[in-house]
Amino acid sequence: MKCALVTGGSRGIGRAICVELARQGYYLLINYKSNQTEAEQTLNLVQMEGESGELLPFDVADKEATRQVLGTWLTNNTDKTIEVLVNNAGIRNDALFGWMEDEQWSSVVDTNLNGFFYTTRLVLGQMQEKRYGRIINVVSLSGLKGLPGQTNYSAAKAGVIGATKALAQEVARSGITVNAIAPGFIKTDMTEGMDEKELRNLVPARRFGKPEEVAYAVAFLASDKAAYITGQVLSVNGGLYS
Ligand code: NAP
Repeated sequence: MKCALVTGGSRGIGRAICVELARQGYYLLINYKSNQTEAEQTLNLVQMEGESGELLPFDVADKEATRQVLGTWLTNNTDKTIEVLVNNAGIRNDALFGWMEDEQWSSVVDTNLNGFFYTTRLVLGQMQEKRYGRIINVVSLSGLKGLPGQTNYSAAKAGVIGATKALAQEVARSGITVNAIAPGFIKTDMTEGMDEKELRNLVPARRFGKPEEVAYAVAFLASDKAAYITGQVLSVNGGLYS
């Protein structure tokens, strides 16, 4: 059975990615940290597309929890293959650098950057064995150009971009592609509370993007059609300079 694992699949961009990958015929492994009700809603939407899936809660920032939950799932499900991994789970916790607390720095780096490492290393072995895989990392405009107030988040996302380019070269010969998607401003819980009326003036398209508009790009990179695209960062940002 062909599976896709989407971290942070309970809400926002991750939910839209789950639905889009269900449309491509994948069995969905929906990861989240704590919001079970929302994760169940994602699973309902996947089922409405005629596919099935299951919830796989673990904190991507927690090395042991990731090994315990995802590692155990892999051991117990040798009949299933994770062909697509979307490292989407992410948080932001903004502060100007001078006011940045230790915890703000480490939680954002642990979730956005270390989470990529803890999850990907568990899934990669099976992809290498099968000589097929699609790894898509959801990064950010912030990781490409840096945004004031987000040194922690910009550093973490830029780190994932570097890892994307390096890993892509390591595994290309095994039929595995590794790419990143860099959204700009997308309407989700993460951008709730931002001054959209003001900020949309910065966007050439004059609006925030929809989660589905990110998901379509992820689905393309996950498809067979994208077999010769690897190590790339695709911006989905309404024309914001990046
Ligand atoms: P969101 O609506 O806040 O959803 C975040 C998702 O990540 C939720 O499913 C959440 O699970 C999960 N998550 C958070 N920390 C986690 C952890 N430690 N372990 C496992 N899951 C965790 O965010 P979003 O806007 O959809 O963002 C998705 C990705 O896009 C993130 O990587 C974000 O940095 C990136 N991004 C977003 C924007 C934007 O404008 N929205 C722009 C650029 C990049 P729970 O429901 O359990 O909390």
